[in-house]
Amino acid sequence: MKQRILITGAAGFLGSHLCDRFIKEGFEVVAMDNLITGDLRNIEHLFKLKEFEFYNHDVSKFVHVPGDLQYILHFASPASPIDYLKIPIQTLKVGSLGIHNLLGLARVKKARIMIASTSEVYGDPNVHPQPEEYYGNVNPVGPRGVYDEAKRFQEAMTMAYHTYHKVDTRIIRIFNTYGPRMRLNDGRVLPAFIGQALRGEDLTIFGDGSQTRSFCFVDDLVEGIYRLLMSSYVLPMNIGNPSEITIKEFAEEIIKLTSTTQKIIYQPLPKDDPKQRQPDITKARQILNWEPKVSRAEGLKITYEYFKSLPKDVLYHRDHKNFEGYIR
Ligand code: UDP
Repeated sequence: MKQRILITGAAGFLGSHLCDRFIKEGFEVVAMDNLITGDLRNIEHLFKLKEFEFYNHDVSKFVHVPGDLQYILHFASPASPIDYLKIPIQTLKVGSLGIHNLLGLARVKKARIMIASTSEVYGDPNVHPQPEEYYGNVNPVGPRGVYDEAKRFQEAMTMAYHTYHKVDTRIIRIFNTYGPRMRLNDGRVLPAFIGQALRGEDLTIFGDGSQTRSFCFVDDLVEGIYRLLMSSYVLPMNIGNPSEITIKEFAEEIIKLTSTTQKIIYQPLPKDDPKQRQPDITKARQILNWEPKVSRAEGLKITYEYFKSLPKDVLYHRDHKNFEGYIR
């Protein structure tokens, strides 16, 4: 009998890669997405498989899945500052009502459930790098609050179901991840820079570019997710690449990669933009024997090839046109 897994946010960047991985591992995959930020093109290659089924459903509403389920991965959520501004209520609902529905489903099905949490639970961190024990520095009423607090609530709810209802839970804190199938115009820094280079526009750095991030290639992240899910570790675990870089250096890497002749222009830093971010992955190393394998040079090359292969209308479709006020 094949194992059956429900993946929410399945048509999104991470969700779609998880569908691929679990199909490859021999699972039956039940994919769910309401397609607000997800894109069916990310999973259309799976539709012909008998091991794959898709539900167009909003997990903030009651979730019904017929049949057995051994695993649930809750990866449905908007995940970029522009999305939080555009759909703040949905962002809060999927992290709160959504997780409640899925934990209830996990309880009924006796399934193991992993929830996608985030380095955003650390907010603009005062501790560097960030270990799992750090409680964070989050502004609940700032532009990122709808995401950060939903994810923090989600962790609390998951632990409550674990201790009170004995649900078998896993919590992953995901740091900045990149790779093919990121939405070109979601406002995140990597698609922003590559998109600008491909359209022949200047690269927009917010602030002076001294803020840092640590970027993990999606294949490494998926491996970490798989190992954590199969482990017995129930407390939150960081998964990310500790290789830290300033946004200015990152822009220079993209300029070199794309051979663009455009320049860097500077725009105001959005409110509550974290100054630094780097995962402490001691736990992942020790408990999962996991660490990232793909260098930024390799990962960026693969990602650039993907963006280059996209049709022109995708390249020029700016779905966040009305939100430039926020990012400028
Ligand atoms: N950023 C930038 N130019 C852009 C988009 C983003 O300089 O066109 C900056 C942003 O202000 C932040 C960093 O890049 O400091 C990473 O932004 P992203 O939205 O990708 O992720 P997050 O801030 O959630 O880590």
